[in-house]
Amino acid sequence: MGLLSLGTPLDWYESRKHNEHVRDNGISQLINIFAQHQNRDNDKFYWGDEVEYMLVELDDNKKTVKLNIDYDHIIDDLNNSALEVGQKAVQNNVAFHPEYGRYMVEATPLAPFDGNILGHYLEVESNMRMRRFLSQTQLPANIRLLTLTSFPRMGCPGFTSPQAKPIGPASQSLFLPDEIINRHARFPTLTANIRKRRGCKVAINLPMYPDKNTKLLDDSIPDRELFDSDAEYRWASKPGHVYMDSMGFGMGSSCLQMTMQAKNIDEARYLYDALAPVTPLFLALSAAAPIFKGFLVNQDVRWNVISGAVDDRTFVERDLDPFPGYDYFGGLDIDKSVKSHLQKMGGGRGINGDRVFNVYGDTKLATNDGKSVQKIPKSRYASIDNYLVNESEIDKNFNDIYSPINQPVLQKLLKAGFDPIMAKHFAHLFIRDPLVLFSERVDQDNTLENDHFENIQSTNWQTLRFKPPSLYSTADVGDLKNKPGWRVEFRPTEIQLTDFENAAYTSFIILLSKAILRFRPDFYIGISKIDENMDTAHKVDAVTDDKFWYKSFNHWRLDANEFHGYDLSWFDRFINEGNDLEAYKQGYYNEPVHNAELTPDCIKHIPCVNNACKYTMNELINGNDSHPGLLRLIIKLIAIDLVPNTLKHCDSKILALKLERIKHYLMFVSKRASGKVPTIAHFLRSKVLNSPHYHKDSKVSDALNYDLIKLCDGITKLDFENYHDELYEYFGTAVASYVETNREVSFETV
Ligand code: ADP
Ligand code: MG
Ligand code: MG
Ligand code: MG
Repeated sequence: MGLLSLGTPLDWYESRKHNEHVRDNGISQLINIFAQHQNRDNDKFYWGDEVEYMLVELDDNKKTVKLNIDYDHIIDDLNNSALEVGQKAVQNNVAFHPEYGRYMVEATPLAPFDGNILGHYLEVESNMRMRRFLSQTQLPANIRLLTLTSFPRMGCPGFTSPQAKPIGPASQSLFLPDEIINRHARFPTLTANIRKRRGCKVAINLPMYPDKNTKLLDDSIPDRELFDSDAEYRWASKPGHVYMDSMGFGMGSSCLQMTMQAKNIDEARYLYDALAPVTPLFLALSAAAPIFKGFLVNQDVRWNVISGAVDDRTFVERDLDPFPGYDYFGGLDIDKSVKSHLQKMGGGRGINGDRVFNVYGDTKLATNDGKSVQKIPKSRYASIDNYLVNESEIDKNFNDIYSPINQPVLQKLLKAGFDPIMAKHFAHLFIRDPLVLFSERVDQDNTLENDHFENIQSTNWQTLRFKPPSLYSTADVGDLKNKPGWRVEFRPTEIQLTDFENAAYTSFIILLSKAILRFRPDFYIGISKIDENMDTAHKVDAVTDDKFWYKSFNHWRLDANEFHGYDLSWFDRFINEGNDLEAYKQGYYNEPVHNAELTPDCIKHIPCVNNACKYTMNELINGNDSHPGLLRLIIKLIAIDLVPNTLKHCDSKILALKLERIKHYLMFVSKRASGKVPTIAHFLRSKVLNSPHYHKDSKVSDALNYDLIKLCDGITKLDFENYHDELYEYFGTAVASYVETNREVSFETV
């Protein structure tokens, strides 16, 4: 989570009076940030991950599992350096953060890792294990800290412990009690303000998995007359879909994020761009969410659930007719008389997406503080809208989607000397209103504080986040090198059950980012293609059954020959003395690589548009006869930059063990990409479909949920004694047998 100010959060109708104030001062703060940090250079490639956990309570007698909402105090204890556990956390470089759900914990490394140190790509796993271990010491044995992307029966009757009723005023949800929301006033206010701004509850409809006995009807919607909004489901829910009506369904799910620091702002801009087409690939590769609200659904990931769960756009912004009796303008601050007049007139999209109403002779419709009312195609939680490098460096047709901007913000940034692309990026983020404002924090010193900027920035939840540094007082400026610089955050990945997998995905993305900066590939394709890939990534088994748009292999601006030999076999040659020398003698590194896993179909890259072609996930990650794929970029980077470059083969046992583990991280992602290892979504779906508790009706009952969570817990613990076959199925034979014999990362003891 971004900032968590203390104080009194303002209700929407009070808060909205300050919208322009927050935006205007936020932009002044941004301008000051750029002035202070624009020219910093040669920052280290630091990186860190974020893991989100759920507290799941198991009752082995009753055979039930619930989300526990009574242990949220452990975060304070874990971060309390006066307590032994808090000291241990600091000593072990671990920090804990609050999250949206009262049953949630987020944990990160306290200080970031260094991308130039090979051992840090392994330390992250022991760090993750320590986070789990320390948290678990604060919990009774039957409450397990699990990394589930979505809790399968979230929103079903009695899914919390202790029990709570879904009658809360913040969310007004028919399914989720307000007691699941973090106690800090920011979170219920955020929930309520999204609803108030939007003018109705959020609505998420997921297609049900169509099975033989599926009724294609969400029969869990109660007939209730507590809030006016109780009737909304009649217009908001779709037949054949699972209907969800609250922020918690999305922000109460868990994910894995990685942040890395670039050496300067230009490098950060390029890295952001190069990772953009990678985001949907990792959403699909990490798919882990096939069940929502007790239903098996016909998709594999959480992304569109969160997107809908925080969608604060009004009817007019979404370009939809309002529900009967509802306000077209939601909670926007527009005078009643103007509204009723305008609603009758309709209107169309004007320049920059501003809504134009002819009645005023083409004057723009605006809120009382002068902000244009625009059509907005995407939720605040969505894929990115624009590349960040200067348009002179890329074909501007790649920025090919309609993305509304805040004109006055754009003008202010241009005037302050921002280049048009950077200015547009922030002018797009600043079409949004602040969602939570604390009364004590309305007035800020723009030369010292950046809360108003962060307020808007951190509630634009996109697949990537371009993170500028913070603002520092003149006393601190001399010390900027030691303060976080220009960073890029990679945000699509679903959380995985085991620390091994989360470390594997984290290492893959960090190493890929480093390889991108080293080899400078050209990955640009139209943003619209990336958006299409985001939709594809939601599909059931997208990894094996679908293709993804990517820059044509012929246009990566890399010489494929230079990557020959840097497949997974490089590790074996490097690690095992003899193999390496033999390979060199045979000139292996100049030989083309043959990938036996390719199907003939993969070679036909049809269709291709503007140098973007459709590829299988296997081709994209593992490459093919004529192309490195993403994996070989990483392995070459390790070979030339991360192991001592004087070595032709590994001469140290410890280095060999480290490389062996990294090889298995990469192998694991590689096998998920080739379909040799199932995604978690595929694995869980097949467990549901084959369970004796399943009745081919798409429903996941309490009994079935208990079995699933028990299994997830066994997998999390790497309990090979009791879940041997399941773990081999889950990891695939090669990785499972490695993990079974190497459960801990403990090289120091070798
Ligand atoms: P947020 O929730 O806003 O994304 P967090 O503080 O939860 O932020 O997580 C940020 C991650 O970035 C953590 O893993 C942290 O270790 C890491 N990090 C901290 N400083 C740097 C830095 N200078 N460069 C790169 N990563 C950093
Ligand atoms: Mg988080
Ligand atoms: Mg965080
Ligand atoms: Mg984050």
